[in-house]
Amino acid sequence: MSENSCSGNCASCGSNCSERKQDSLFEPTGKYNNIKHTIAVVSGKGGVGKSAVTSMLAVSLCKKGYKVGILDADITGPSIPKAFGITSKAMQNDKGILPAQTKEGIKIVSVNMMLEDGEQPVVWRGPVIAGLVKQFWTDVFWGDLDYLLIDCPPGTGDVPLTVFQTIKLDGAVMVTSPQDLVSLIVKKALNMAKMMNINIIGIVENMSYVVCPDCGKKFSVFGGGSASYDDFGVKLLGKLPIDPSLAAMIDSGSVEHFEGDLLSNAVSEIEKL
Ligand code: ADP
Repeated sequence: MSENSCSGNCASCGSNCSERKQDSLFEPTGKYNNIKHTIAVVSGKGGVGKSAVTSMLAVSLCKKGYKVGILDADITGPSIPKAFGITSKAMQNDKGILPAQTKEGIKIVSVNMMLEDGEQPVVWRGPVIAGLVKQFWTDVFWGDLDYLLIDCPPGTGDVPLTVFQTIKLDGAVMVTSPQDLVSLIVKKALNMAKMMNINIIGIVENMSYVVCPDCGKKFSVFGGGSASYDDFGVKLLGKLPIDPSLAAMIDSGSVEHFEGDLLSNAVSEIEKL
């Protein structure tokens, strides 16, 4: 970038930009935390099942014996506490804000744990939301974790940008659904990650098909397969069906009962980090 066109926002330019004034904008996490790997779960648009995939990944990693946390950065649409049946409010001690713990020991922090009434909408401006996400990284007492999964809000706005520039990520898992339009939006999100030098671990295609309960045949509800992930230069980690039992588990707060190995490829790629 030439001096004339420099916006002064080092977060939006490549690491090789000659105008860069700071080497890194990354913030350290709290001093009582020992987080081995930090992974963002991102999507180009909302409703594709990003939070569902985050939850299932956390459950799969936890079942393998890893210590797992979820930082719910989807401040205006937090769905993680509901999926795990968490209703408690956040507490604090001298080491920081204390995450809630699920039955199996997954640590969770979400804005819903800070609100008096979880049904009230968060009507805050971008920088306030981004500031809270930063605090979830710096002021929460996560303790020892093998994996911290960050459920990012969809798109390429303020908050994903804050996550990418504040937290040193080991990688990101992208969640998409098979529609053409969504794929186009995925390209934007992938390009944003590329611009910010984020390692994309791969793509999970959610709501890819539905299995007929009578004949067992698979149907591609959204036309299926129109997206070629090879074109994006990223790995397809798996295709998940529309599964009414998964939706029911999430709705009833019992996603920890989720069984199945549809995300096994994603888990093994994460274990390679
Ligand atoms: P996002 O985080 O991308 O906005 P969510 O994970 O909240 O999306 O999912 C949107 C809705 O779709 C939720 O009600 C969730 O339970 C449901 N859902 C997500 N993935 C599946 C799936 N594979 N099968 C059935 N329902 C799903």
